[in-house]
Amino acid sequence: MLELMLTAALGAQPNIIFFLSDDHACNATSAYGSVINDTPNIDHIAATGATFDRAFCNNGICAPSRAAFLTGVHGWNNGVETNGDRFDGSQPTIASALHDAGYTTAMIGKWHLKTDPTGFDHWDILPGQGHYYGPDFRTSEGKRRINGHVTDVTTDLALEWLNSGRDTDKPFMIMINHKAPHRAWMPAPQHVDMYEGEVIPEPPSLLDDHANRGTAAKAQEMEIANHMWLWYDLKIDPDEGTPLTGPDRWAKGRYDRMTPAQAATWNEAYGPRNAWFEASDLEDDELTRYKYQRYIKDYLRCVAGVDDSVGEILDWIDDAGLRENTIVIYASDQGFFLGEQGWYDKRFMNDPALRLPLLVRWPNVTEPGSRIDAIVQNIDLMPTLCAAGGATTPDRVQGRDLRPVLEGHTPDDWRDAIYYRYMEEGIHNVAPHEGVRTDRYALIHWPTHDEWELFDLETDPQETTNVHDDPRFATVRKHMHLALEQMRSEVGAPGMPGPDAG
Ligand code: CA
Repeated sequence: MLELMLTAALGAQPNIIFFLSDDHACNATSAYGSVINDTPNIDHIAATGATFDRAFCNNGICAPSRAAFLTGVHGWNNGVETNGDRFDGSQPTIASALHDAGYTTAMIGKWHLKTDPTGFDHWDILPGQGHYYGPDFRTSEGKRRINGHVTDVTTDLALEWLNSGRDTDKPFMIMINHKAPHRAWMPAPQHVDMYEGEVIPEPPSLLDDHANRGTAAKAQEMEIANHMWLWYDLKIDPDEGTPLTGPDRWAKGRYDRMTPAQAATWNEAYGPRNAWFEASDLEDDELTRYKYQRYIKDYLRCVAGVDDSVGEILDWIDDAGLRENTIVIYASDQGFFLGEQGWYDKRFMNDPALRLPLLVRWPNVTEPGSRIDAIVQNIDLMPTLCAAGGATTPDRVQGRDLRPVLEGHTPDDWRDAIYYRYMEEGIHNVAPHEGVRTDRYALIHWPTHDEWELFDLETDPQETTNVHDDPRFATVRKHMHLALEQMRSEVGAPGMPGPDAG
């Protein structure tokens, strides 16, 4: 204990526990004022550390955001701009930098970068997106299936390494990358009845018709009303012999991974709900509202599992006597639409997806309960953790060390905007776009549609009204276009594909 106190006092290399969940929106985190759920354990990080109110991703899908977190550089520099790109593991990452600085390192859970993890002494990952029930996990030794719910299994594997897998002579860094609450939102058996009988509040724009938005918002295929699958997404199983289409074709394989006991718990919970739906005659807005309830409850049940996991790990830190020398970070790779604009999924450079929860407890650095309004981005974690661990920050890193911000002293030259770039095409039919977000406005460029959108987050927090061509916003528009030019040049963004791009 004395030794521990001495090393802490000397500012020795702190341990680092980094939770990275998948698609967890700020609007489903009570530390961010959620009106639909409670996340007491994540809130505990907020109460004992700092909460970033303006943390954004640089690309609103899984693999590109994860690559940016790991490398501290944008996608055109780390090679991952879409979920189809393969990560080159020879480039410097949080893991390799800390490993070189003397850390023992581990990665548990969703990796999603196609190549094997590098820089980790130990890794145990979900192949691809992974499964909620009976997930396969893969190490350098091979793959095996583990009976359980993926959130619980991920937590157990993390605890196993913390308890007996790591080299206790070294400081440690572990990434605990939860699959939850990613689609298709299959909660653990202990959570299947949460929220049942309750009505979860709807976002004000649930039934928005996108009349005041551009082509992309009208063309997307991520509406709760029209693009959710009854079995795959909403857990409503079809009658025997019904021909299956779309993702519903994959649903059975997922349910088949449950143990008989898990399946029994599941059917007991969902059977009566589905029977009620089958007997009902819902249509139009009533049907959309019903789908929203089914969707959001499963999403929040998955969030509850992640929050429980955070609680277990926080307890472990305290039980191990490591609280004073362990940094705890909770983040998600991006946010998610929880019915805003009538949508699920992410991608769009609008706040529900663009913003991510980011909470940091760093003893003797963060003021307990502090809120930070500096504009930060996923690329900032790499240089922050390099500095924390005494590792060399690679010259190419585009993010900035958050430590002064965490200490409450945001440097005068801190950024006043972030650059965003989404390059995927196909799924959910969202065109590539780029843009810039300041503390109040978002400017989005849609090169394939040759359109622009401008939103005033202060007067239109749901971002349902594009004011780009509104004369009252002429000055703002000019300023935001300049800001985009400046950001493109600052980050070295290549040109976007467009109608004229050959
Ligand atoms: Ca994600």
